[in-house]
Amino acid sequence: MDPLIVDGVAITHPDREVFGEGGPTKGDVAAYYEAVASHMLPELHGRPLSVVRCPRGTTGACFFQKHHADALGKHVKAVKLKEKDGGTAEYLYVEDVEGVLELIQMNTLEFHPWGARVDDPDRPDRLIFDIDPAAGVEWKAVVACARAIRERLAASGLESFVRTSGGKGLHVVAPFDRGPSWEVLKSFCEGVARDMVDAAPTRYIAEASKAKREGLIFIDWLRNTRGATSVTGWSLRARAGAPVAMPVRWEEIARLKTGAAFDLSKALKRARSLTADPWDGIETLKQSLPSKR
Ligand code: ATP
Ligand code: MN
Repeated sequence: MDPLIVDGVAITHPDREVFGEGGPTKGDVAAYYEAVASHMLPELHGRPLSVVRCPRGTTGACFFQKHHADALGKHVKAVKLKEKDGGTAEYLYVEDVEGVLELIQMNTLEFHPWGARVDDPDRPDRLIFDIDPAAGVEWKAVVACARAIRERLAASGLESFVRTSGGKGLHVVAPFDRGPSWEVLKSFCEGVARDMVDAAPTRYIAEASKAKREGLIFIDWLRNTRGATSVTGWSLRARAGAPVAMPVRWEEIARLKTGAAFDLSKALKRARSLTADPWDGIETLKQSLPSKR
């Protein structure tokens, strides 16, 4: 089969089924990302990026890639960043839909940006709480958790936004003016998570321990560190059924039932029918992380 040309990028093997038999093909994935690029790029562009690549589809082995490689395509940019061990390495990022599609050609399915931009990787401008319910926790408890985080952030002067993870949970995200270090951000977020646990220890946990998590919601504040990522809005997940991490309006979460409520075809319909972006205003919002909570 001939390659499919999407926005000038050649997508080879467009008929390959990447989510298992009968599921969306590589060509469908390329067409999906082209269709949602205008919604997805504001959150993604200009940030160091990890991608999940699945050369044999989601039923084969997938891998997380954070470093740049020449073969990725000419719109996939490199930025040299300090590594934990003191050395430097080239990280990848994209600025445009061509960069996104070149990554699709390299069998990328998921996009995971940093909470900082390539021009100043040591000063974040986004925070995230990843809400991870243990098996069996009801959706309405997940919703209540997201709303409680929203209220605590609002009490600190921060408006926040919510998306489905495409898996079990929700992510609460807040933008803020660049300035504070990762250390300051991390301790702010730890404080919020610990206050949540103090107020409702029978519902929440702030430690990553899987053993202690049974029946609880893990409020993951540890994503707020240099080099950590979270999946971006509109990204597919490399999981059965082609779920999507979907930015939603706060009013929407109660009627969703699960963090995997949107899949590729629902997300495409949504992109076509949306009149306003669900995270409208996030790019222009001016707000600061409080120096004291
Ligand atoms: P779920 O609803 O299943 O929790 P999620 O995207 O929130 O979906 P998590 O396992 O909670 O998945 O991880 C949170 C974030 O941490 C991910 O979105 C991803 O960016 C990052 N992450 C997870 N696993 C890895 C990994 N192996 N390597 C690098 N980053 C990872
Ligand atoms: Mn999660």
